[in-house]
This record gives sequence, structure tokens and C-alpha cells, in this order.
Amino acid sequence: MKIKSADFVMSNSNVTNCPKDHLPEYAFIGRSNVGKSSLINMLTQRKGLAKTSGRPGKTQLINHFKINENWFLVDLPGYGYARVSKKDKKTFQKYITDYFLERLQLVCAFVLIDIRHEPQKVDLEFMEWMGENQIPFCIIFTKADKLRPKAIENHVNDYINKLLEGIWEEAPIYFITSSTSGIGQEELLNYIDGLNEGFFKETL
Ligand code: GDP
Repeated sequence: MKIKSADFVMSNSNVTNCPKDHLPEYAFIGRSNVGKSSLINMLTQRKGLAKTSGRPGKTQLINHFKINENWFLVDLPGYGYARVSKKDKKTFQKYITDYFLERLQLVCAFVLIDIRHEPQKVDLEFMEWMGENQIPFCIIFTKADKLRPKAIENHVNDYINKLLEGIWEEAPIYFITSSTSGIGQEELLNYIDGLNEGFFKETL
């Protein structure tokens, strides 16, 4: 897929205010600093589309971008636990869970993981929550330029094995990317292109 246009549409903190267009939508989410803004800019080839590094105000919003006039890329806030009851039960921020539970146009979410890090509890629990709620997602490993090819292979295998030791019977689809080198860009855009085709066929 070639990116012909990438336009900021709106930011808001409530799924009910998201754009009403019936277009396929893809959400990008991960812990802060995982490289999400850099990846979005790399994918869309627009340097300043998503704001990189430390814009605290903007990070708590659901940000919609319209790509090629026919799909939405959604930049979601970094996730973390929110305490919801006296018993100290933890869940993820409500506007994030509401978004996933209510946004019917969502075709696939991309959960970003820094390829250098050991599996973190919050990421594993978030993916578990997605699975329990039947939200389709893929993993995007970021910052692959920081490791040599053999180490990339080892880290990815370790990560996937960790998922399979847990609740997963099947490994999720994953992509290996680097915003610095552009690794993974074409593969990811082609994947979205294929899903878009399916979306439009179904809605014909
Ligand atoms: P966000 O908080 O998830 O949006 O992360 P940013 O995109 O702001 O990136 C966080 C930090 O990681 C910044 O210092 C980026 O320059 C760096 N970074 C992001 N992606 C890459 C990458 O692919 N390779 C390298 N080497 N650094 C990256």
C-alpha cells in the first residue's frame, strides 16, 4: 500500500465521540516509550503526524488519523492499570477498554512491544484482556535496529514461547519493525491492505 494522504481528524477521550464514518480502523497501543509515535510516523511517512516523546496532555486521548481517505489509524494512549474497587481490583483505563469493547469498526489492534525487553506483566495482562474480550490483535515488536538478527530471533522466540506457556494456544501474528531503519513498514501496510479488502467486501 502506498500512503497518499494521512490527515489528523480528531482527539477525544470518549469512544462515543469517535468519527462516525464506516471505515476500517486499526488501533496502535502499548506502554509509553515503546516507540508508538515513531512507528506511526514511519508507517505514514509523515514526520510529525504522531507526536513523539513526552507530550503528556495528548497522551491521554484517542487520536484518529484518516489514511488514503479510506481507513483510520488510531493512536491510543499508553496503557496502565487503573484501580477500580475497594478490593484493589485492577483493570485498564476505562476509556481504553470502552474503546475496544464498543468500537465496531475496529478491524485489528496492534499491541506494541519493545523487542529488547523481557515480557512485562502489564503487557501480558493486556493481551489476556484482549483475548478474553475477543478483540483481534497482532503484536508489533519495535526498535529491531537495536539488536542483531540472531538476537532478534531469540527475543521473539522467547516472547512467543512465554505467551504459549500462558493462556495462548496459538501464537498471535507478529511483525518486527524499526522506525529508524524502516524494517517492517511494507509488510505491515500490506497486511492492513489485505484486511481492508476483506472489510469492504463484507460491507458491499
Ligand atoms: P511512544 O511514547 O511510544 O510514542 O514512543 P516514541 O515514538 O516517542 O519513542 C520513544 C523513544 O524511543 C524515542 O527516544 C525514540 O527516538 C526512540 N525510538 C522509537 N522507535 C525507535 C526505533 O525504531 N529505533 C530506535 N533506535 N529508537 C526508537
